[in-house]
Amino acid sequence: MFKINENYLKLPGSYLFSTIGKKVNAYKEANPDKEIISLGIGDVTQPLAPAIIDSLHKAVDEMAVRETFRGYAPDLGYEFLRSAIAKNDYAARGADIAVDEIFVSDGAKCDSGNIQEIFSINNKIAVCDPVYPVYVDTNAMAGRTGTYNKETELWSNVIYMPCKAENGFAPELPEETPDIIYLCFPNNPTGATIKKPQLQEWVDYANKAGAVIIYDAAYEAYISEEDVPHTIYECEGAKTCAIELKSFSKNAGFTGTRLGYAVVPKALKDSDGNSLNALWARRHGTKFNGAPYIIQRAGEAVYSEEGKKQTKEQIAYYMNNARIIKEGLKEAGFTVSGGVNAPYIWLTAPSGMTSWEFFDYLLANANVVGTPGSGFGPSGEGYFRLTAFGTYENTIEALKRIKEL
Ligand code: PLP
Repeated sequence: MFKINENYLKLPGSYLFSTIGKKVNAYKEANPDKEIISLGIGDVTQPLAPAIIDSLHKAVDEMAVRETFRGYAPDLGYEFLRSAIAKNDYAARGADIAVDEIFVSDGAKCDSGNIQEIFSINNKIAVCDPVYPVYVDTNAMAGRTGTYNKETELWSNVIYMPCKAENGFAPELPEETPDIIYLCFPNNPTGATIKKPQLQEWVDYANKAGAVIIYDAAYEAYISEEDVPHTIYECEGAKTCAIELKSFSKNAGFTGTRLGYAVVPKALKDSDGNSLNALWARRHGTKFNGAPYIIQRAGEAVYSEEGKKQTKEQIAYYMNNARIIKEGLKEAGFTVSGGVNAPYIWLTAPSGMTSWEFFDYLLANANVVGTPGSGFGPSGEGYFRLTAFGTYENTIEALKRIKEL
């Protein structure tokens, strides 16, 4: 009789957003007349920008003609997109990343989950706490995280780096040396960022310790402050210690169309001199058949003059929501952070409520859905995340309701 991968049995509870979905559906069923506003899941609400739509139409038409039809895409990505990325996301920021260090994918979720496969199962991971849950869960599925303690909600073989108000929601260098360090800036869920000298400290630390940093920059486009790095490769020495993950979901609304990429520099080698670039190319080529041609053309359009202008306007739209949420919450007496370099506002649940208690309270009394901070890690307990990805009208209405509580 077959057996399942027992690592899956060790996973705690269900995926955060399924639990939220179930709770919201149950509430809707019991209260069909209530109008619920979701500022919960980090999904965009603005349609794709016109320059992107034009490019999609054009690419679709090419697929209808024998001469321009495309079959399987090159599994590492089309040259036109990879060079647009190298030029706009790296060369323009003074970072020298070559086209063959860029691996186009169908999004940063898959990349952030899959990248651990190329590391030894004995490698120890360090994660910010709270953080995007995919990092720990995928390492748990691989069997790298030890045993799960239901009471502390901690895995025995993971180094947690608490990010709380006391340290400005920024991780401190861990006492125990990790092999793999996950950093996510701007951070989901706290919206926190670190400045370039702080990121340089992490790069120096990783190079010295022989650790690799997996740098998730999915929210890079939301950075508004001058001294916050847009890519880890702005730091000296990052090419020998860092992999960077990027997504087209939040900067250009590709959550449904799917596109992302990973940067794995050729200078990045393990202690035996094995190239991670070659390993990731092997893994990508074996398990991934390329992002669709039409979507890669759409991705290319994000870097056109019109595309840049239009996506910038969308980001400004969401960041205006972020400002409305942050200021509204402050007026209502909440303690808030984030929302300056990220579309996430991180607030302290009032009156000593737990994160889930506040979730229930907000759903029942304001019909507003947010995300409990504890779902992102134990140090998120007592906190709550609201997103700026709603429509302007819904954001205004949600804040009106919250202020009336
Ligand atoms: N990384 C972080 C930190 C995220 O918050 C998300 C989505 O919410 C992703 C990656 C997923 O990005 P994608 O839509 O490209 O899979």
